[in-house]
Amino acid sequence: MKLSRKILLSLVLMVAVSFVLTFSISLYFLHSRVVDEVKAGMYDELVLLESADLDKDVDFGRMRFTLIDSSGSVLYDSQAEGEMENHLARPEVQNALKNGYGEDLRHSDTLTIDMLYVALRTDEGNVIRLALPVNNIYADVANLAIPLTLLFVILFLVALFGSYRITKWIMRPIDTLDIEGNVETTPYEELLPLTERLKKQNSEIVNQLKSIKEREEEIRLIIKEMKDGIILMREDGTVLMLNNGAKAIFNLEGKDDPKSILELSRSPLFFSIIDNKGEGQGKLPVGERIIDVRANKADGLGSVMFLFDVSEKVRMEKREREFTENISHEIRTPLTSISGYSELLESGNVDEENVRKFSHLIHKEALRLKRLSDDILLLSALDGKVQIDLSENVDMGSLSDSVVEYFEGKADVKVEKDAPLTVKGNSSLLSEALMNLIGNSIKYNRDGNPIKVIVSSDRVTVKDEGIGISENDKERVFQRFYRVDKSRSRETGGTGLGLSIVKEIAQLHDANVVLDSVLGVGTSISIVFPRSSIA
Ligand code: ADP
Repeated sequence: MKLSRKILLSLVLMVAVSFVLTFSISLYFLHSRVVDEVKAGMYDELVLLESADLDKDVDFGRMRFTLIDSSGSVLYDSQAEGEMENHLARPEVQNALKNGYGEDLRHSDTLTIDMLYVALRTDEGNVIRLALPVNNIYADVANLAIPLTLLFVILFLVALFGSYRITKWIMRPIDTLDIEGNVETTPYEELLPLTERLKKQNSEIVNQLKSIKEREEEIRLIIKEMKDGIILMREDGTVLMLNNGAKAIFNLEGKDDPKSILELSRSPLFFSIIDNKGEGQGKLPVGERIIDVRANKADGLGSVMFLFDVSEKVRMEKREREFTENISHEIRTPLTSISGYSELLESGNVDEENVRKFSHLIHKEALRLKRLSDDILLLSALDGKVQIDLSENVDMGSLSDSVVEYFEGKADVKVEKDAPLTVKGNSSLLSEALMNLIGNSIKYNRDGNPIKVIVSSDRVTVKDEGIGISENDKERVFQRFYRVDKSRSRETGGTGLGLSIVKEIAQLHDANVVLDSVLGVGTSISIVFPRSSIA
């Protein structure tokens, strides 16, 4: 039940009960007052009648007049015809004879209605009596009660309206209580615990909503900005949402979102995912890239497809596989030579000159093997398998001097210092890089042309006037085991790993390797350091 209805009903009930009570009590008093007035009127009438001449026509109006002697015999009656019974036993007659005045209200057997009797003893000792039908008194009361009833009805209606207004007045502050907002003030003290609790709950809800919103925004941002792709879709492949990562994978930036995953790729993988109601996984080639696709059903959401660009991983795996294959090949060649020459030597059928020649070849191949194993070990160290200290301040001028010193007597190598250059890094690795660059310039030189190591403000350049590198080969010379001229490289003891080692060392120092070469004119290779690496 509504509180307002309860208050209104209680008020109406209270008003109704009090009105009925007041009305009944008023009616009772009205009635007794009317009866008293009637009695007093009848008494006055009797006093007048006492001295009246009954033989003359007297008008008794609604009343009946009786004259009774002290023995109870009816001497005169205004309404009775013929003989009447003795009235001595009547209470009003008895009292009148005894006390001078008597009254009674009873049922009249004669007239068969309720009557009010008022009797008075006359000076002669007789009793005169007036009787009035009670109906007449009730009619008087009723006449008087009509305006009273009307008044009560009007008052009752006013009270009803008042109750309605009071209920509204009590309820208004509760109805207009701002539950969501400000519950600082309370309209009724009794509501204080409730409003306090509301206030607490409100602030809890606000905090919870805030943190939910923050989390939602975080997740939305993470999904949006993730490099990996996410596609939310129905089981039939209808795209519901795709993030920036997915757009980048399928080159959709700036274009409209696709309606179905088949607009992204009509690959057998996507068809099978749709056939399997949004489930499936596999590798998807997109242009040059390889994308790892995993689609899983998500309860109530349809399906979520994750897209990971694994091109780099696949490339690395391929590179590692090729590297291992190359290593075995590179090792097998000198080992075959070594085992062939040593077998010949073992047979004892080799003349002295050949013994020296074969031994020299075995020694050369063994040295190549050693270089190869050194380079491989260094590459694996550079691949991040060993912790490398890059905190030294390396003066590239002095470092160039000491590396060039190593080549003294073997070639014409000079250091040119245009500007001082000290870099943060690892001196052994940087000297290894310079060794490889200078070594190459010597190996691929022409006619003993001079070689220069130039140190300038942000780079070290090794410049030669050798055979040069063709445009086609410029990119590839940095690949592991790639050589332009295999036999020349073999002849000079190259492993095909030198430039890739230089490149890796440079990368470790955040530096770039810049190759400038003209076939038949010469080559210059620079290690260019960024500002951040220069001490
Ligand atoms: P290698 O051990 O064969 O020298 P590198 O990785 O050092 O291996 O070099 C790869 C190839 O690049 C060489 O085989 C050579 O053909 C070419 N090359 C490197 N440096 C020079 C240079 N200064 N002049 C001409 N060709 C060069």
